[in-house]
Amino acid sequence: MGKITGFLDYPRLSETSEAPAQRKKHWREFIRHLGDADASTQAARCMDCGIPFCHNGCPVNNLIPDFNELVHQQDWRRALEVLHSTNNFPEFTGRICPAPCESACTLNINSEAVGIKSIEHKIIDKGWEEGWVTAQPPARLSGKSVAVIGSGPAGLAAAQQLARAGHAVTVFEKNDRIGGLLRYGIPDFKLDKMLIDRRVEQLRGEGVQFRTGVFVGDAAAGAAGETITPEQLKQDFDAVVIAGGAETPRDLPVPGRELNGVHFAMDFLPQQNKVVAGDRLDRQILATAKNVVVIGGGDTGSDCVGTSNRHGAASVTQFELLPQPPLQENKPLVWPYWPIRLRTSSSHEEGCQRDWAVATKCFNDDGAGNVCSLTAVRLEWKDGRMAEIAGSEFEVPAGLVLLAMGFVSPLQHVLDAFGVEKDARGNAKAGTDDYRTSVDRVFAAGDMRRGQSLVVWAIREGRQCARAVDEYLMGGSLLPR
Ligand SMILES: Cc1cc2nc3c(=O)[nH]c(=O)nc-3n(C[C@H](O)[C@H](O)[C@H](O)COP(=O)(O)OP(=O)(O)OC[C@H]3O[C@@H](n4cnc5c(N)ncnc54)[C@H](O)[C@@H]3O)c2cc1C
Ligand code: SF4
Repeated sequence: MGKITGFLDYPRLSETSEAPAQRKKHWREFIRHLGDADASTQAARCMDCGIPFCHNGCPVNNLIPDFNELVHQQDWRRALEVLHSTNNFPEFTGRICPAPCESACTLNINSEAVGIKSIEHKIIDKGWEEGWVTAQPPARLSGKSVAVIGSGPAGLAAAQQLARAGHAVTVFEKNDRIGGLLRYGIPDFKLDKMLIDRRVEQLRGEGVQFRTGVFVGDAAAGAAGETITPEQLKQDFDAVVIAGGAETPRDLPVPGRELNGVHFAMDFLPQQNKVVAGDRLDRQILATAKNVVVIGGGDTGSDCVGTSNRHGAASVTQFELLPQPPLQENKPLVWPYWPIRLRTSSSHEEGCQRDWAVATKCFNDDGAGNVCSLTAVRLEWKDGRMAEIAGSEFEVPAGLVLLAMGFVSPLQHVLDAFGVEKDARGNAKAGTDDYRTSVDRVFAAGDMRRGQSLVVWAIREGRQCARAVDEYLMGGSLLPR
């Protein structure tokens, strides 16, 4: 434990960020990691609890008090080793994880949690700056080969672990670039895509091969580019990991859904990622000078808000079906669990009208097939059930509507092409001990197995699945779970 009275002596310090008015003018990251001395002081707030609840709160079970101690001593290199021992990509989670570890921190009961996420961010950024993050190719090869379908955080974590265990790994990705939703979905201002590129280089250095623009599934699915069938893949590889994410968006089938200007968030956000990457698009969905209505209050909705503001929207409104949560949770009641409370993202800070307990009734036509407004109704929630409030209909102008209501399941035709059994929600059915699907030699991880989730859960599943595959191929595994 760094300093016995650290939690009493030092207040929590947040990372600094560029002012909203400035950062709205560009697509770059705007949060700065802590300096060495501040990170050391923040780490000294850790009480090194006998039972570190933060461990349990963290889906990858980061060894939080251990790296806090090392950061307090400014032993950055060992702190990096400890961090990497449980998390392949802390630069992703250090930026975009909602940090359930902090909700679970003991200090959070009656004070402010240790700034675990900011410490993680600092350790890994320093590691890259110092050149300490390098390829770790295996000492010997196993002679076995594994195909990984999907290059999101689950596929990348699985690929890295399997390559380090000595297997010949090939990652197949239907998109033109590696990264899954880290690449196409999460905006550049939250996650600079250079972070993915340099990890890809590291994985290449460890022997992983990447094949982009290759769809694995049924040729009849009509994917652009090359298609490889699951049968072919099973002939060519000893094991297959399917980590294709949960790409079927939840729709809003109300009158007017077909109008121009009503889009899924995932038609809108990846286009902007491509533009930032330097691609030239024939047509882009732009929010510029439009009244934008974002339907859905999660991360995806928030990213639509930030992107719309950077396009120069005339106004941005966000609707949420659920009632407004409390500003502050009842900490002793909910700790150490993830609390339901009002969360204001950096995108909200940049300008957004938020409205809760609202349902959309229809999208209205300007007479030329374009959306010009939407009609909504207010809701009353009782015992977990919602009811429309009679006479509460209202209309808001809308030149662009973005549907960000989450994802219902993985693409069903991909799972059908593999012939894997599905669970009740349409995800690939596989347990978290062996990650095996109903099809021999086919394993599943990430959002494709657990449904729409978080980057940190995808990393955990990729790691654990890699161990399961290694055990299956070799009869045992030294990879951590
Ligand atoms: C807009 C948005 C913002 C988000 N923000 C956050 C956030 O701030 N913090 C957070 O923790 N989580 C966030 N999430 C959730 C997080 O991104 C996902 O939970 C995570 O990326 C899932 O990882 P994955 O590897 O399972 O799948 P994905 O990242 O979805 O990757 C799957 C990959 O598989 C490829 N693929 C699918 N099928 C095939 C096929 N048949 N052949 C070849 N390739 C295929 C896809 O093209 C894709 O690249 C966000 C999600 C969205 C949509
Ligand atoms: S729960 Fe908080 S104070 Fe306790 S060990 Fe974890 S980070 Fe440190």
